[in-house]
Amino acid sequence: MSGVFVRVALDHPVPTLFDYRCDAALAPVPGMLACVPFGKRRAVGVICEVTTHSDVPNERLRGVEALCAACEPLSEEWLALVKFAGDYYQRSLGEVALPALPQALRDPERWPRLFAPQERYRLTATGRTALPEALPARASALRRLAAALAASDAPPGADDPAGADGSCGLDAADARALHPKASATLAAWQDAGWVVLERVAVGAASPAPGPVPLTPGIAAEASAAPERPTLTAEQAQAVEAIAAARDFVPFLLHGVTGSGKTEVYLHALDALFTARPDAQALVLVPEINLTPQFEAVFRARFAALGGDTPIVTLHSGMADGERARAWLAAHTGRARIVLGTRLAVLASLPRLALVIVDEEHDPAYKQQEGLRYSARDLAIWRGKQLGIPVVLGSATPSLESWWQAEQGRYRRLTLARRAVADAALPTVRLVDLEDERRRGRSSVDGISGPLASALKARLERGEQSLVFLNRRGYAPVLSCDSCGWLAGCPRCTAYVVLHKPERALRCHHCGWEARIPRSCPDCGNVDIAPLGRGTQRVEETLAELVPGARVLRIDADSTRRKGSAEALFSDVHAGEVDILVGTQMIAKGHDFQRVSLVGVLNADTALFSHDFRAGERLFAQLMQVSGRAGRAGLPGEVLVQTRYPRHALYQALARHDYVGFAEATLAERRDAHLPPFVYQALLRAEARTLEGALGFLAQGAAALAGIEAAARVTVYDAVPMTIVKVANVHRAQLLVESASRAALLATLRAWQPSLRALKGALRWSLEVDPLDI
Ligand code: ADP
Ligand code: ZN
Ligand code: ZN
Repeated sequence: MSGVFVRVALDHPVPTLFDYRCDAALAPVPGMLACVPFGKRRAVGVICEVTTHSDVPNERLRGVEALCAACEPLSEEWLALVKFAGDYYQRSLGEVALPALPQALRDPERWPRLFAPQERYRLTATGRTALPEALPARASALRRLAAALAASDAPPGADDPAGADGSCGLDAADARALHPKASATLAAWQDAGWVVLERVAVGAASPAPGPVPLTPGIAAEASAAPERPTLTAEQAQAVEAIAAARDFVPFLLHGVTGSGKTEVYLHALDALFTARPDAQALVLVPEINLTPQFEAVFRARFAALGGDTPIVTLHSGMADGERARAWLAAHTGRARIVLGTRLAVLASLPRLALVIVDEEHDPAYKQQEGLRYSARDLAIWRGKQLGIPVVLGSATPSLESWWQAEQGRYRRLTLARRAVADAALPTVRLVDLEDERRRGRSSVDGISGPLASALKARLERGEQSLVFLNRRGYAPVLSCDSCGWLAGCPRCTAYVVLHKPERALRCHHCGWEARIPRSCPDCGNVDIAPLGRGTQRVEETLAELVPGARVLRIDADSTRRKGSAEALFSDVHAGEVDILVGTQMIAKGHDFQRVSLVGVLNADTALFSHDFRAGERLFAQLMQVSGRAGRAGLPGEVLVQTRYPRHALYQALARHDYVGFAEATLAERRDAHLPPFVYQALLRAEARTLEGALGFLAQGAAALAGIEAAARVTVYDAVPMTIVKVANVHRAQLLVESASRAALLATLRAWQPSLRALKGALRWSLEVDPLDI
């Protein structure tokens, strides 16, 4: 057997590649997936190098068991991306590469099915008209099947699907999930000439689509494309700048809420596909809940893009198989637009030509476990690597991005006005709670008089209101008046939240749950009461305070079931809701047309947080949620209830003054030597006791003494985390920081071997550019 050696990245913390023997007949090349023996198990890894020599002694070398030949190898650029992310975030290459792949690809048992040619059913022209008429009215399963076929159909106006490539078709497996006898039914429909069955190869690279006549723009070509608004002058300028960029240009699209950033993205994409019919684009959104809204708009606009899967979404809420298929469509170049949450930034996109990061300031772009990466920062890196433009859009850019623009490293594009004619930014009124109290006008369970009247006025006018508070549950704690007992979690240093519909006390940190006690467990007092308020309590209060209003609550509890958030949001859009109550889930990105009032409760707590980013985050949230009001031309009003109406943050909010807020906050950060003027990293340790965690960190700090680059790094004292105990594990952290990013990274790299040798912690981790300190 003629043999070569392959060096494979595996999902393992040791920062090396692993050598294996490989049969040359398997024709291994870098980027291929390999199934290899690893210890006592088998593992899937990515081949990074193919060589004729290995330093590992022959008797210790094991052989590759199988290669995934059906899958187009991952590109050199992709391997460089995961290598960079591993180096930067202090992980092994394999710890980045493997989790970035869909689960199904990491399981060799599933390869044959995954790469079997996919069977898709498509409606024919005859079927499109004949099928709906032929179905009995009561056959709901059959109707579902027909509806799914129609939904996956080519846009009206495209050629017959048998010859064109304008439709997606219905996957055979999806069809079987809809109807138990789908195969037989579809076979009968095939015989009738209503549908055709096609086989699509899944893993192989698709040839670049030929030059399709695409003037003056793809979106304009599709006869069914919805009407496109005429761009405002500001939008047109932004689109022109993005379309003209032929190299790496990081754009910061600073557009006030409702300024039509989406339309800028759509036109920039249109210009791209017109110039380069084979190009791919990556569009990142911060939240799963925003993908359906975007997907619908994108599908309508780009229906004429062609290919069997022109637009795919990628997010963690998708079923395994579905995600693998979407990932493969991106990897093979068949998907032209990939719309996804942060994990999509690591997708394999061989013809990537434009990256868009919507709401770039959103903390959700930072992964908070495992590989703690920033999708926004990796998006910028990909743009630089490939020499392509990257658009970061926001009404409230992160101070990091704003500072880059101030220094001229990012190109700023400004949309200062709302796009819809007559839609002005909402008026912001600060309701002084102290003043209300002094005048003897007390709030009813947290809702002030002015807010209550404003809500009633909206109900009378048939307009919608939105009430925002960032706390879910009924009340943040249950308390006993007579002895001062507060309901706490037995496993965490935290109070448990009262959830009224479920009649439970629930810990938001570890998930511990208990029935609501009838009396105080300490003194027996039966008069225990909820303290403070969450979304459930506000929902209850509003129903009483504004009689006749249809109140809907949207938060993590009310949307736990898959797809339920989408259904709730569509009720709001359909006008079936008068008052929407919710957490930050309702603040982001949604284009509500009938909301004219936004009420903000309980925002003050964030003003006095020890986290230096709390103010930035609160300001962004309040600007975002305020931005939901008055988008379609109804005059919008925002009422913020506060005890500190003169606070600079609220004053800037009332002036819609992001720039003033950003400049003042950046000046404070500069004086205090905080990011973005320094670079930070956190070493975290978890142990059975707090002493154990702190002891580990102290040893870690001592190990820095021998590292040369650490001379330029400041090391702070190890401290317990704010919530020190979670699920009976104690947590502490150590902050290291430097004015030089290179010195910080070099220090972390040199530090890792000594950290790995330390004992005493259950777990430890390094986080680069942490957001929560
Ligand atoms: P943003 O993301 O900047 O908050 P959106 O992209 O959601 O704003 O756009 C806000 C609203 O303005 C949407 O209803 C959109 O259809 C509309 N819109 C965008 N551009 C234009 C335009 N040039 N003319 C008229 N309406 C527009
Ligand atoms: Zn008591
Ligand atoms: Zn707990």
